[in-house]
Amino acid sequence: MLKSWQAITLWKRVLIGLVIGMTIGLVLRYVFGDGGVLGEGGPYVLAIAGLEFVPSSWGESVFQPIGDAFVRAIKMLVIPLVFTTLVAGVTAMGDPKKLGSLGSKTIALYLLTTLFAVSLGLAVGTIVRPGEGVDYQKVDSGDAQVAVESKLKKAEDAGSFVDRLLEIIPTNPAQALASGAVLPTIFFAVMVGVGILLTGPPADPVKHFFEAGAEVMMKVTMMVMELAPLGVLALMAWVMATQGIEVLLNLGKLAIALYLACIIQIIFIYGGLIIRGMLRMPMIQFFRGVADAQGVAFSTASSSATLPMTINCAEKNLGVKKSVASSVLPLGATINMDGTAIYLGLIALFAAQAGGIEMTPTMYVMVAMTATLVSIGAAGIPSAGLLLAATVLDVIGVSAADAVLVIAFIFPFDRLLDMMRTVTNVTGDIAVACTVAKWEGDLDEQVFRSDPVKIDKKPSG
Ligand code: ASP
Repeated sequence: MLKSWQAITLWKRVLIGLVIGMTIGLVLRYVFGDGGVLGEGGPYVLAIAGLEFVPSSWGESVFQPIGDAFVRAIKMLVIPLVFTTLVAGVTAMGDPKKLGSLGSKTIALYLLTTLFAVSLGLAVGTIVRPGEGVDYQKVDSGDAQVAVESKLKKAEDAGSFVDRLLEIIPTNPAQALASGAVLPTIFFAVMVGVGILLTGPPADPVKHFFEAGAEVMMKVTMMVMELAPLGVLALMAWVMATQGIEVLLNLGKLAIALYLACIIQIIFIYGGLIIRGMLRMPMIQFFRGVADAQGVAFSTASSSATLPMTINCAEKNLGVKKSVASSVLPLGATINMDGTAIYLGLIALFAAQAGGIEMTPTMYVMVAMTATLVSIGAAGIPSAGLLLAATVLDVIGVSAADAVLVIAFIFPFDRLLDMMRTVTNVTGDIAVACTVAKWEGDLDEQVFRSDPVKIDKKPSG
C-alpha cells in the first residue's frame, strides 16, 4: 500500500493531498460547523464512547499542528541547504567571472518579469475594477485594525531602505545563519565559494566538504518532501475549515482580479513567452516539473519555506544545474515576487476606485515603480505583500490612516490571495532559473523534456 503510494510521482501526490485537504476542511466547516448542514444553530457535537468532539474545531486543533510541523521541517532545511548548495554551486562554476554574468542576467530577468507582472496587475485592475462600490471604512472589527497597526509598526522599525541594504553584508556570518537571514547567507556563501576558487588546490578539502554537504542536504530535503502530501493536506484542511471559501466572495472582484492576473502571468508570461517562446522548450513539461513546488507554495503561502522544494524541482525535474539553481533560486525567493507585485498594483487600484481617486498616467507609472521596489523588499513569508501595501497607497495619495483601514479590510481574508501570489512568485523564480541556465549552457534539456523524477532512495552517481 505504502509502496504503491510512493510509486506515484510526488506532484500528483501533493495534488491529491491538496484536494483531499480542501475537501476535509470544507466538510468540517460547511457540514459540521456553525450553521452547517448538521450543526444548524451551532457546531455539531460528536459523542464517541462518552467523549464529546467538535469536528468543526479540528481545523485548528488537529490539522494546524500537523501543517505547522511540516512548515517547521521545511524551514529547518532552508539555511543549511542554501549555504551548502550555494558554496558548492559557486565552486562548480570554476570561474568567479561566471558569477558576474550569471548575477547580472538573473537580476535583469527578475526585474523584467516583475515589471510585466505589475503592468498586468494594473491592466487587469483597470478592467475588472475591484474597488468599485467597496466601503473599506466599514472594517467590521477593531481586531484586524489593531493587528495591522502593530504589524505595520514592526515593519517600520525594521529600518530604512539603505539600512536594509547594508544588512545584506553580515557582520557576523554565524549569526546570519543562526537567525535564518537568507540574503546575508547568500552573500557570505558566495564569498566563501569565490575564496575556495581563488585558493585553488589547497582548498580542495573544503570544496569537497561543501559538495558532500550539499548532497546530504538534498537527501534530507527529499526525506522531508515525502511528507509534503500530508503537510499540504493538513494546511489546506486548516485554511478551509477556518476561512472557508466565502473569503473569496467577501473580497469579490479583488480576488477574481488577483487570480486572473496570476494565472495569465503563469501561463502566458512564464509558460508561453519565456519557456515556449524564448527557450523553445515544452510548456507542459515545465508545468509538470514545477507542480510540487506550486503545491507547497499554495499551501504554505511562503516562498522562503518553499525554497527547498523549488531548488529540488528545478534541479531534478527541469535539469537546471546546481550552480545555477543554488544561486538563482534563493535570490529569487527573497527578491523576485511577481505575484506580490501584481497584488500591490491591484491594491492601489482597489483603494483608488473605492476612495474615488482619479488615477493619472503618472500615478500608474509611480505605482508600477513603487510596487516593483516594494515586492523586491518583501520577505517570502505569509502576508508580507499586504503589509507593505501602505507604501504603494502613499504614492496615490491615500492617507496613512486610510491605508491602515484598507489593509485591515483585506487582512483577515488575505490567506487565499497570498496562496496564489506565492504560487506565482515561485513559478517565476523557476522560469528565470531555467532561462539563465539555458543561456549559460547549464540546462540539461533531456531532463527538462522527460517526466518528473520519482524520489529515489539510491545514492546518486
Ligand atoms: N507570501 C508571499 C511569498 O512568500 C509574499 C506576499 O505576501 O506576497 O512569496
